[in-house]
Amino acid sequence: MTDERFFNAEEAYSRSELEALQQERLRATVKHCMNSPFYRERFRSAGLSQDDIRSLDDLHKIPFTTKQDLRDTYPFGIASVPLGDCTRLHSSSGTTGNPTVILHTARDLDQWANAVARCLWMVGCRPDDVFQNTSGYGMFTGGLGFQYGAEKLGMLTVPAAAGNTLRQLKFFKDFRTTVVHAIPSYAARLYEVMCQQGIDPRRDLSLRTLVIGAEPHSEDTRRRIEDMLGVKAYNSFGMSEMMGPGVAFECPGQNGMHIWEDYFIVEIVDPVTLEPVPDGEVGELVLTTINREAMPLLRYRTRDLTRILPGECPCGRVHRRLDRMKGRSDDMIILKGVNIFPIQIEQVLMQFSELATDYLITLQTLDDNDGMTVEVEISEKVLTDDYSALQKLEKEITRCLRDEILITPKVRLVPFGSIPKSEGKAVRVKDLRKQY
Ligand code: ADP
Ligand code: ZN
Repeated sequence: MTDERFFNAEEAYSRSELEALQQERLRATVKHCMNSPFYRERFRSAGLSQDDIRSLDDLHKIPFTTKQDLRDTYPFGIASVPLGDCTRLHSSSGTTGNPTVILHTARDLDQWANAVARCLWMVGCRPDDVFQNTSGYGMFTGGLGFQYGAEKLGMLTVPAAAGNTLRQLKFFKDFRTTVVHAIPSYAARLYEVMCQQGIDPRRDLSLRTLVIGAEPHSEDTRRRIEDMLGVKAYNSFGMSEMMGPGVAFECPGQNGMHIWEDYFIVEIVDPVTLEPVPDGEVGELVLTTINREAMPLLRYRTRDLTRILPGECPCGRVHRRLDRMKGRSDDMIILKGVNIFPIQIEQVLMQFSELATDYLITLQTLDDNDGMTVEVEISEKVLTDDYSALQKLEKEITRCLRDEILITPKVRLVPFGSIPKSEGKAVRVKDLRKQY
């Protein structure tokens, strides 16, 4: 590529070039899926033949594939190649139930590494950077997915893996790490331990870029993490079923994540009617993989809620942008008949500069009444034992939360660092309600 901005030619495609490629890849994918007994049967029972899918307009004829389909065919049931052609297996983190298995051929792994490298290149990573990955390695795709992508780009890659925060900090210093991948809750934890150790990231470390993703977080949380660590933080979206990280990623504009449309066909549907929603409206993200061999998925219902950001991106890529994830449809809390997403609570909390980024929502039943308690850590910068000031703050937070979620939670301010941290994705909601 002669243009330094792009890692792959496909990034610089025009809309019509991109759609022509999508159409060609969709047809090839559908044809290839007929090697899978699962999809053969799906097409047969829908009265559909591979020849019915000629253009992108025909996509809607294909039935959806769901997480339940993956569970029902566990472990290898959807594969479109013989197992002998596969070289790796991953599974999802199992955040919302039984894990699901995803198979890869050598080509799939290479294409995946390419997508991750493309994302990292987009935000300015270059071969002279030192990339430290704090993801768990193993079945979780954030480990090997970023490892191979960063290597493909040519960075010196430090597979630090999850946990052992003191060791992470030592590596930052000793190896002069410039780029870090961490989930948002762990980025906050890194800062907490830096404070305890008297490390000032701006003075003592070389960190410049942070890749954060894998769990929903608000814009304010991002800004705070950037401010704490003295880095630019870019939102990274992926999921095991689509390959892992590298599905969608923010560009330097930090305004929505470009989803790589040479790899995926994007639809946003109403989760109830399953009809497409107009561009710009929130719905469930549905993805069709058009660049996978071992286990392509057609119209996969991700259960993630988001929208397509209208308009063009100044960076010059026509691959459309997804807004921050609002959450998964199964994250939604229904309390006293009101639907609430944890991210709504986070958005309110992060308006208060007195608060740190960690919080925990507990739902419980008291005297046959369901209620919500929100515990939130006070920022390490607020050193007050002025009880009435804290009480006033709790009241103000309660009022703002009630305005947002229409329910009055009990708010409890707790000391910095006191909410238990999990090794993987943060647990933000504990549901202890009595089940009737
Ligand atoms: P699991 O579904 O068990 O958590 P994965 O590791 O495959 O397994 O996680 C994929 C899911 O993580 C996505 O479907 C989405 O809900 C969430 N996720 C990934 N990246 C982001 C992000 N940048 N923002 C919000 N949520 C994300
Ligand atoms: Zn852009």
